This record gives sequence, C-alpha cells and structure tokens, in this order.
Amino acid sequence: MSGGYHSARDLRGPLTLDCDVVVVGSGAGGAVVATELAESGLRVIVLEEGPRVDASVHGQMRPSESMRHLWRDGAFMAALGIGDSPTINVTMGRGVGGSSMLTGGVCFRVPGPVLREWQRELGLEDFTEAQLEPYVSRVEEAIHVEEVPVAMRSRSTALFAEGAAKLGMPVHAMRRNTRGCDGCGRCNFGCPHGAKMSVDLSYLPRAVAHGADVWSHALVERVVTRGTRAVGVTGRLLNGRGGAPGDRLTVHARRVVVAAGAWHTPALLMRSGLGHPRWVGRQMTLHPGFRVLARFDESVRGWQGALQSAYCDAFEGDGITLMSLFVPTGVLGATMPGVGEEHVAAAARIGNLAMFGGIIHDEGGGAVHRGPGREPVVTYRMSPSDRAKIPRVITHMAETFFAAGAREVFIPVLGSRGLDADAFRATDLARLPTSRIECASQHPLGSARMGCSRENSVVDPEGRVWDVDELYVADGSVLPTSLGVNPQLSIMTVATRTALRMRERSLPAR
Ligand SMILES: Cc1cc2nc3c(=O)[nH]c(=O)nc-3n(C[C@H](O)[C@H](O)[C@H](O)COP(=O)(O)OP(=O)(O)OC[C@H]3O[C@@H](n4cnc5c(N)ncnc54)[C@H](O)[C@@H]3O)c2cc1C
Ligand code: SF4
Repeated sequence: MSGGYHSARDLRGPLTLDCDVVVVGSGAGGAVVATELAESGLRVIVLEEGPRVDASVHGQMRPSESMRHLWRDGAFMAALGIGDSPTINVTMGRGVGGSSMLTGGVCFRVPGPVLREWQRELGLEDFTEAQLEPYVSRVEEAIHVEEVPVAMRSRSTALFAEGAAKLGMPVHAMRRNTRGCDGCGRCNFGCPHGAKMSVDLSYLPRAVAHGADVWSHALVERVVTRGTRAVGVTGRLLNGRGGAPGDRLTVHARRVVVAAGAWHTPALLMRSGLGHPRWVGRQMTLHPGFRVLARFDESVRGWQGALQSAYCDAFEGDGITLMSLFVPTGVLGATMPGVGEEHVAAAARIGNLAMFGGIIHDEGGGAVHRGPGREPVVTYRMSPSDRAKIPRVITHMAETFFAAGAREVFIPVLGSRGLDADAFRATDLARLPTSRIECASQHPLGSARMGCSRENSVVDPEGRVWDVDELYVADGSVLPTSLGVNPQLSIMTVATRTALRMRERSLPAR
C-alpha cells in the first residue's frame, strides 16, 4: 500500500512498515515536515493517534460531539497549578491535522522581539526576520493567509473596537488561513465548509499525492534506537475494543521525526529514554488565557461573523495580547451563573453578550512528568510577574466593554455573578484566590526547546535531538519561549526550516 490515507482501526493483526522517514503526529508541525520531505522524493509515513474526519463530517457534529471525537480527552486536559497558579484547562486536537483542525485560523509571524530573545538567550543566531522570511512566506502561501475584512467582524468584536477607540487603544485586523470563509463562526469545531486551510486540507493532500502514507488510529509508544541512532518507532494500532490499544505497530525508518505536540513529544522522548533530562519536558509555556463577557442592551448575536477577526496590542509591552473570540451558544449557556430559573434567565440573554479574550506572554513554568498511564501529568508554576498580570488582563477587557456601553461584565472567576461598572471596580481582583480564577490555554510550547548547546536545549538549531542521530523534533515543543501571539504559523515556519535543512542531509544506509 502506498500514497494514501489508512485507518489502523480497520486492521486485524500486527502491522510492520518500512520507510525513509517516519513522522509521529499529523498536526501543524508534522504535516509540514511530511509534505516537504515527500515532495523531495522520500518515502514518508505519518502516524497519527486520532481519527481522520472529512470537512463534510465536521458540519454534522454538534460541538459536544466534536469535543468528544477530535479534542484530546474531550477537552478535559489540565496543567495542574502549583503554588499561586491557577489550574489551566489546556485543549488540543487529536486527529489527522492535529490542533490545526481546531484553530480560529489566527496567523501571526514570530514577533521580532521574540526572535531577538532567541538569538540572545538561546544562541539561535540564524533566526532573524530576514533569514526566516523564505520559510514563513512558503507557509503563508500554502495555507492562504489573508486579512479578515472589517465587514466580517461580529458585532461582539465591533463593540470591543468601539470601546477601544474611546480609550485610545488600537485594534487591528487579524490575519487568518482561510479561503472562502463565510463567517459561520464554527472554526474551533472543524470548518464544515473546508474554508479554513488547516494542514489536513493544505499540506497532507500534497504529501499523499507524493506517495506519503498517513495512518490514523496509530499510537506511537517508543522511539527505537540502535547504538546512538534512531531507527524507527513502535506502538499500538488502536484497533482494540472501542478504539483501545490493540495489535503491535512497528515502523522501520532511516530517520524519525517526532511532532506529537508540546504535551506528548516530551512524554514520548522520556518513555524512550531520549533527550537530556535537564530539559526534556521542562520550561513549557502556555499563554494562559482569560475571557470576559459583557452584556449590552442591544442584540449582539456574537456568534455571527468570523470567529477571530481582530486583536489589540496596546498592552504588548506588558506581555498581554487581547483578541476577539466567541464560543458556541450551547457552551456559553453552560457557563452562565445561577441555577434553575436564575440560570435560565441568564442564559436567555446570550444574544446580548459580547466576548473578548486575553493571553499572557508567559515566562514558562510548565513541567511534563510521566503519568501512570499513557497521558503525561503536567504541572504549571506561574511566575509572580505573570500572576500579577491576571487582574490587568481582566480589567483591560472589562473597562473596554464598559467604555462601549456594557451594562455588566462576567469575569472569569468561579462563582462570580454579572458585575456592573461600580461592582467591578470595587472587586479586588489581585486578592482573589487563584483557585477561583478560570484559565485556559490552547498553546502549549517549549517542552523540547531548541538552542545552540546541549546545555540549554533538547534539540539543536536544525531540530536534531542532541546526541541522537537521525532523531528530529518538529512541533510546538521546540519553540524555546512563548510568543505572546497564537503560534501555528511560527510552528509551521520553524518546521519548514527544519524540513528543508533535512532535505540537504542525506539519509544513512540501512
Ligand atoms: C481550540 C484551539 C484553537 C486554536 N486556535 C489557534 C489559532 O487561531 N491560531 C494559532 O496560531 N494557533 C491556534 N491554536 C494552537 C495551534 O493549533 C497549535 O499550536 C498547533 O497546532 C500545534 O502544532 P503541533 O504540531 O505542535 O501539535 P498538534 O497540531 O497538536 O499535533 C500533534 C498531533 O500528534 C498526535 N499525537 C500525539 N501523541 C501521539 C502519539 N504518541 N502517536 C501518534 N500521534 C500522536 C496528536 O493526536 C496530534 O494530532 C489553537 C489550538 C486549539 C486547541
Ligand atoms: S468562520 Fe470561516 S473558517 Fe471558521 S468554520 Fe466558518 S467558514 Fe470555516
């Protein structure tokens, strides 16, 4: 069998395969590397633990069904807060296309100051804006990055922009990887119109056209080494009862690329006894995120319009980025305060709600530990300076909505009711117990960081795991710091660089 999509769930009995390059994980990083290498003539196999879902199927699933089938563990993953840190709900995709399938489509280049930090702190001297330009342009063309027109903004976003204008804060148009988006606002549950150019639509079909095999329901458990060289992977076909691990999977390869995402790549390296223990699974950053809802007298119907269409960088210097978002009404209804009649009354006003989100450009503090089962245990110790930003990010959003005429705001604090401007200003956010703060992340990064020395990193500037031949990492885990902006374009840019450098390096003999 060659050049196609295959489901390991349909197989009976063990599977052994052979290729030039095996890529573990089919998300933003893995799909890019697989495609670039397949197009250079190499025999590539992609192994993905999750299912493959067609665009037409996305539209048939309710959001709760998408979460069950395509979000890892039904979106119930968390980084456990240590010390004065909130526990952070971390979501990621599990399927062909990885988390790329679930994005709001937001695309940012690696910010210049972040690159300069990488050059200064990690010795990544070749990571300048000019030197990355060919790679980022290549990705932007492949995934069709375009600016969201103001006309596609939801009323929710327009209201925030009105408030921001009154406060003198700039709001910019977002760039997204879309083609023919109709603004239906379903992006986080898979685009039903095939308009979001996630890697399952933009990259993997190219890889398959060049002979790559993409296996879904294929769980990798270990990287296999011979001497100091990676020579393949082993794992399980998820063909047991209800998709549980079943028959053995063995792939012999001349090169191994791990792109299982920042949550699972370090776990796989640890399980395989690879990578320097000082850095593998350490320094994970998350972009801790918060959202504020605001109730207006007018009908807002915030679900109509491009999901994420604008952002505000007024507080960039303080490590805070604000951006538009909305969540499906069913999910939103469940988050409204009260029980019984009170909850029904609150949920009935969903059509009057606007929403904005804010993320912290965090210092890191996440650590991946081997868990009792397949999933790692992740802890997060927020730095005091990041902790101090939580009240500020919430206040910026609330005050912007009040400036736009909001009657009350709902802040991300468990047990909190709607607060009018006076009640909000009387709330001492800095003294709220951290355990009451609702915090979410979609951006785990940095757990197998890149650097110029084995003393400061897991992989070298080419993406190679130090001291292991033919073992590469090409996903969000190599980005050595947080970015302060959504990461998919940066992950794909670095993965492209890694793939094109890999092409220049001949494969070893078997
Ligand atoms: C809801 C949501 C919205 C987002 N919105 C945006 C946005 O608008 N803009 C943006 O820039 N970013 C966004 N992101 C983040 C972005 O999607 C991720 O940063 C990016 O996709 C990460 O790429 P990756 O290659 O590191 O991992 P992923 O894309 O997560 O891919 C990893 C893949 O590896 C698979 N895998 C893991 N372990 C194994 C194993 N052992 N064997 C086989 N397969 C395995 C996983 O199932 C997964 O499919 C969003 C993320 C989420 C969850
Ligand atoms: S808003 Fe656009 S990109 Fe998002 S799901 Fe709808 S059509 Fe797809």
